[in-house]
Amino acid sequence: MKCVVSLSGGRDSATCLGVAVDKYGAENVYAMGFEYGSKHPQELEHAKKIAAYYNVPYQIVTINPEIFNGSTCTLLQGSEKEVQKGKTYTEILAEKEGKVDTYVPFRNGLFSAYVAAKAESLVQQFDEDVVVMLGQHADDSGYYIDEHGNEMLDESKAAYPDCTVSFVKAFEKVVEVSSVGRVHYEAPFVKMHKWELIKMGLGLKKRVPYELCFSCYDPVYENGEWVECKNCATCLDVKQAMDKTLDKIQSENPELYEEVKYLRN
Ligand SMILES: [Zn+2]
Repeated sequence: MKCVVSLSGGRDSATCLGVAVDKYGAENVYAMGFEYGSKHPQELEHAKKIAAYYNVPYQIVTINPEIFNGSTCTLLQGSEKEVQKGKTYTEILAEKEGKVDTYVPFRNGLFSAYVAAKAESLVQQFDEDVVVMLGQHADDSGYYIDEHGNEMLDESKAAYPDCTVSFVKAFEKVVEVSSVGRVHYEAPFVKMHKWELIKMGLGLKKRVPYELCFSCYDPVYENGEWVECKNCATCLDVKQAMDKTLDKIQSENPELYEEVKYLRN
């Protein structure tokens, strides 16, 4: 089975690539990234390094940013509005209704469509079924477990509607119909929180290189290189998740903790 992964350079998609390589073997995995006129194109350089670490080909697709003309998204280069600082997504969503202002119109829909097109091409080339894999996770999908241990879904709590369980289910159907059942859409983390998927990534045979990852929405130029700001919602969410993961593995797997504790910085 071949597998195509959408790889942005952030922790979620890097873990997705790690899982894909673990499950299908590096020789069967392809990674794709997207240049779409964001304020943080530096992530793609990091994605290239992650793909090289896993020894998989990495293709960058350029999406014409003019399609976003008129969008109020603060993440796009055309936006004069600053990316909000100092608050996590949970805090931002508690203050306002609906989508966060870093939502890029139909971004995961675009990415999913491109990886599906690549997947259908691979079906034709190798005459075997192909999986497409994306890294949507429970912090964005609206999925949670309540105090009684029941699985719950409240998509009004989802920061990104194109990361929700509904979106994943709809796209599963779309790629199945389009490929006549030959392409399968997988979002393995849709019921996992970011801290849980990072914990999983650290435990893989070939551990996810989180030190190579980059997912900041407002990078700063420091000492000749672009670095994560540590203060946008994405940076704060990463810090929170990483701290939680490291606290867990410190008690459960002290050896691994000693190997990766530097990731806390
Ligand atoms: Zn940041």
